Amino acid sequence: MKFQPSRLKLGGITAAAIIVLTATVLPLSLTWINEARDNRQQVEDRLTALRRVHELLIDAETGQRGYVITGKDAFLQPYHAALAVLPGELQTLNQRYEHNSSGDRKRVNDLLQNAQHRLSGLAKVVELRQTGGFAAAEPIVTSGQGKHYMDEIRRISGELGAIEVHELAERDTELRAKTWVATAFSVISTLLSLGLLGYLAAMMARTIRRGEQSAAQAYRVSEELESGMATLRRHNDEMSILGEMSRLLQTEMTPIEALEVTGLFCSRLLPGTVGTIYLYRNSEDLLALAGSWGSVPEVATMLEPQTCWGLRRGQVHRCSGAADLRCTHASPRAAGSTGHFELCLPLIAYGEVLGLMNVQSSAAIQDAARSMEQAAAMAQTISEQVALTLSNAKLRQVLRDQSIKDPLTGLFNRRYMEETLTRELARAQRNGTSVGIVVADLDHFKKVNDTHGHPAGDAVLLTAARHMAQMVRASDVACRYGGEEFVLILPDCTKDAAMLKAQQICDSLPQLKITAAGASIKVTASFGVAASPFDGEAATALFQAADQAVYEAKRSGRNRVVSATESQGQVIPH
Ligand code: GH3
Ligand code: MG
Ligand code: MG
Repeated sequence: MKFQPSRLKLGGITAAAIIVLTATVLPLSLTWINEARDNRQQVEDRLTALRRVHELLIDAETGQRGYVITGKDAFLQPYHAALAVLPGELQTLNQRYEHNSSGDRKRVNDLLQNAQHRLSGLAKVVELRQTGGFAAAEPIVTSGQGKHYMDEIRRISGELGAIEVHELAERDTELRAKTWVATAFSVISTLLSLGLLGYLAAMMARTIRRGEQSAAQAYRVSEELESGMATLRRHNDEMSILGEMSRLLQTEMTPIEALEVTGLFCSRLLPGTVGTIYLYRNSEDLLALAGSWGSVPEVATMLEPQTCWGLRRGQVHRCSGAADLRCTHASPRAAGSTGHFELCLPLIAYGEVLGLMNVQSSAAIQDAARSMEQAAAMAQTISEQVALTLSNAKLRQVLRDQSIKDPLTGLFNRRYMEETLTRELARAQRNGTSVGIVVADLDHFKKVNDTHGHPAGDAVLLTAARHMAQMVRASDVACRYGGEEFVLILPDCTKDAAMLKAQQICDSLPQLKITAAGASIKVTASFGVAASPFDGEAATALFQAADQAVYEAKRSGRNRVVSATESQGQVIPH
């Protein structure tokens, strides 16, 4: 939310100004109107005083005249009544004009003097009537004495009255104007107050709305933060399990073991899924099942690479609905049906396909496509790790093979033979069993090279070596000792059994059909057989006994088997 201090400040200043204006203008305008009303009242009071004095003078004059004509005291009553109040009224009149212009005051003074004169005149006539009767007073009355004063009073009173009436009209106009202005002020200040009230209400509504919005936003942010934290925790857990798997896979192990380990970790890293891991067999161009997690329905133990789009494209293949391309090896339940997904991840390292990881949703889920993407990201990481492990295992295997195997024939080399013989003899000694050893040397092999060439000689060596390896048990060890000489170590084998095995090989060797350099080549060999503990308990002694028997076989005509015992005491020809 954006905070607007300047607008709030402006609103506050305006509110204060309007409140001060309203508080000031209304009393001021009231005072103003009252002042105008007072002014008007003063004019009215002056008019009233003028009229009152004029009326009282007329009353006094009328009473005096009646008394003069009738002589009855009753007629003097209005005269006396007027005389009783007139001094006060004349003084009031004088006071009313105290603050008027000098012209007006002069007129009032004239009026008061004329009034005094008139009153003196009236009193004099009343006195004459009382003392001298009608005859004494009548001449004065009829002479019109005192009329002059009354006329003056009427004139001055008329002038002042006209002035006051005019003044009254002006005061009325002033009062109306001031009332109108005060009303206008009042209306304006009311409108301003209403406007301010509206503005403040709008500001408050907006502030409340923004407050609500920011509260909602804060709630959203906190929810996002919480879900982010949960994701982070999940990532951390995944990372630590991945790290554990990675450390374990760094241990020296066979590819099969590596895939078993991976299967175990996949059940933790890919919850809600089942899966299989296949290992590629180069020789057969097939994928063999080597690991799994969860209860995978309908597991195929062998897969053909071309049945998998993942392997054919060399990248992750996703299938989560009828619209997606399905691998033909895919389980009919998983991929393609609503709420399920299936992933095929080729295990590739350094450009070489090593296997396949197949991930399937274990049950129908709400958003299969989204779950598939989450699983794909994790499965991709796992598959890369596994592919690297497989590649390393393979490389280790190659290096090991290179160090213990003969590159031409694939049989174990001389060093391995010597180590194995020593080991097997020690074990046999411990177990009280016998180890047989057969040394074979191909007959006239030099001639093969000379006649058919060195590559043909190699082919003969390879065929003979494979044949010998096939003829012995899996637990026996077939070695190429050097050149065209071979050694077979036969653990748990008596001398007779070793002799029998050597004879079988000797008999079957010439039957091998070897075609090389366009010729059919036949090969035979001479065999020397020895067995522990009879012919020696140490590896060197036993080997020498068998080797000596080979020489005996050569000497006695080749293509035969000679027992070390038989050869004992024979002189080796040079
Ligand atoms: P004998 O019957 O007395 O054993 O005769 P021989 O010719 O087999 O024995 P000799 O020791 O005279 O010759 C062995 C030959 O084997 C010599 C060598 O050229 C050949 N040879 C050794 N190693 C290889 C190899 O790796 N490839 C080929 N083509 N020939 C080899
Ligand atoms: Mg030889
Ligand atoms: Mg030879």
